[in-house]
Amino acid sequence: MQLVADVKCYYCGFVSGEMVSADGQSLKNGTFRPALGVKMPVTRGALRCARCGGPVFMDDVRTERPVPTATTFERERPGRPRRVRPPASEDSEVIRA
Ligand SMILES: [Zn+2]
Repeated sequence: MQLVADVKCYYCGFVSGEMVSADGQSLKNGTFRPALGVKMPVTRGALRCARCGGPVFMDDVRTERPVPTATTFERERPGRPRRVRPPASEDSEVIRA
């Protein structure tokens, strides 16, 4: 398990991303993971808010399972066709005329 915390702004409440650290290690030494759409350099220094540049704090600290790295299975089990799921966005797609 790993520790994950939201990196939240004191001023505007914007969540710039998440701080991730291995279990048993301080989040201060963790890795910054920018939120979707946030373009911030991955630094090991003081983080600032991606929106207003204000000071940030760790919010909503929780433990998460580490995201499994992409694995490829060399052998497939015979007789079991791979189940293909349609993309989730298909249902919510709006067709405009
Ligand atoms: Zn801010």
